[in-house]
Amino acid sequence: MAVAAEQEIQAREYIQAVFETVQRRNPNESEFQQAVKEILESLVPVLAKHPKYREQGILERIVEPERLVTFRVPWVDDQGIVRVNRGFRVQFNSAIGPYKGGLRFHPSVNASIIKFLGFEQTFKNSLTGQPIGGGKGGSDFDPKDKSDREIMRFTQSFMTELSKYIGPDTDIPAGDIGVGGREIGYLFGQYKRIRGAHEAGVLTGKGTLYGGSLARTEATGYGCVYFVDEMLAAKGLGFEGSTVVVSGSGNVAIYAVEKAAQLGAKVVACSDSNGYIHDPNGIDLAAVRRLKEQERKRIAEYVLDHPGATYQEGCSGIWSIPCDIALPCATQNEIDEDAAKLLVKNGVKAVGEGANMPSTLQAIEVFLQAGVLFGPAKAANAGGVAVSALEMAQNSTRQAWEFEEVDARLHGIMRSIYQNSVQAAEEYGHPGNLVVGANIAGFLKVADAMIAQGVV
Ligand code: GLU
Repeated sequence: MAVAAEQEIQAREYIQAVFETVQRRNPNESEFQQAVKEILESLVPVLAKHPKYREQGILERIVEPERLVTFRVPWVDDQGIVRVNRGFRVQFNSAIGPYKGGLRFHPSVNASIIKFLGFEQTFKNSLTGQPIGGGKGGSDFDPKDKSDREIMRFTQSFMTELSKYIGPDTDIPAGDIGVGGREIGYLFGQYKRIRGAHEAGVLTGKGTLYGGSLARTEATGYGCVYFVDEMLAAKGLGFEGSTVVVSGSGNVAIYAVEKAAQLGAKVVACSDSNGYIHDPNGIDLAAVRRLKEQERKRIAEYVLDHPGATYQEGCSGIWSIPCDIALPCATQNEIDEDAAKLLVKNGVKAVGEGANMPSTLQAIEVFLQAGVLFGPAKAANAGGVAVSALEMAQNSTRQAWEFEEVDARLHGIMRSIYQNSVQAAEEYGHPGNLVVGANIAGFLKVADAMIAQGVV
C-alpha cells in the first residue's frame, strides 16, 4: 500500500480513538461531541502529514478544556421569591491569547452547550488572526419576560462569582444569545464595583460611552455577509438581486439583514423562537428592530401592520421558503438534514452560518454534496469576536477608532479568513470545502503554539 494511504488510515484510527475517549469522558453531551467530531474528522489529512501533533498529544489536550467552572447564581425576583440558576465559564484554550468568548443566558444552557461553544470559539478565534484564546460561559437563566430590575439583580449576582475568574489579561467575556448591550452594562458595572478599578478591557460589546467599540454591534451580522460575499464573488455571483432568508431576529440576524439589503438583496424572512415571518416584499427592518430591540415583543406582531406578510408557528418551516442565500442566524442545529434537502431542492446557492453550529453534521453533508457554497460558523460568524479583539486593542491603548476604520478592518479580517480557509482546504486535499479548510487553518495555529509552550 502507498505510504500516504497507510498514513491516512493510521490517522483515521488514531482520531477515532481520541473521539471515543471524548465520548466516554463526556457522556450525554451531544452538542459537545458533535462539535468535536466535526473538527477531528477534518484533521485526518493534517495528522497523516505531520506526526508531531500525535507525538505531542495535541488532540488529547485540545479536546479537554483547561478549566470548567460552574457556580450557583442566587437572586430574588420581583415577587420576593428566591431563585437559583446555574452559572458556567469554560476556559478552553489559552495557547494563543487570553480566554475570549461570549456569555449565553438561555434555559437550554448546560455543560454540553457551553463546552461546544468554547471548543468552537478556540478555532474561530484563531482564524481571526487576533491574539485570543477560547472561552465561553453563561447560565440557564431565561431573560424572556423578566423585568429590567430582575435582569439587573440576576446579572449582578452572576458577575459577583464570575469576577473571580476573569480579567483583561486572563479571560474576557462578551455577549451571546440573551446577553446584549443592557446585560453587558450591568455586568461591567458590577465588575467595576468589585474590583474598584475601571478595567475597560475585561468585557467587550460595551456601550460606546464607557469603552465599547463602534461597529461591534454590527460586526457578526456584517461579517457573515462579507464572508458570503467572498464565496459568491469567487463564482462571479453577488448579493445584488438575490433573495435571502435569515433566521433569527437578534443581534446577528438584524445586521445580516441590514448588510444584505445594503448590497442589493431582498431579505424575505426572519424568525424568533416561536415562529417566522415571510414578507415577499422584503422585510421592513425598522419594524423588526422596534419589536425586538425596543418593545421586546414576539415577531408574530410584525404581520399586524404589514398586510403582505404572513406568520407561521415553529422555526424549521422558514427553510421551506425558496431563496438564493440562506443565513441561519438563530441557534445550534436549526437546519437538519430535511431542511437542508429542502433548501437544495429550492435552488439555494450559498449558506452562511451566522449562528454557532446551526447546521447538523448531516445537513452540512447535504450542502457539500450538492455543491452549495457553504460558509461554516467558525469562519462566517467570526466577525463579532474579531471586532471584540479590536475593542480590546482600543481599550489597551485608550483610543476610540472611527466606525469606518473598524468596519474596514472587519472586512479585511473576513477576507483573510476566507482566503486562509480556501488555501488550507486546497493544501490538504479538499479544494472548495471550507468546513475542512477553516478547521485546519484554525487548528494549525493553536496546535503549533501549544507545541512551542510545552506540555502544559
Ligand atoms: N458570542 C460571540 C461568538 O460566538 C462573540 C464572542 C465575543 O465577542 O467574545 O463568537
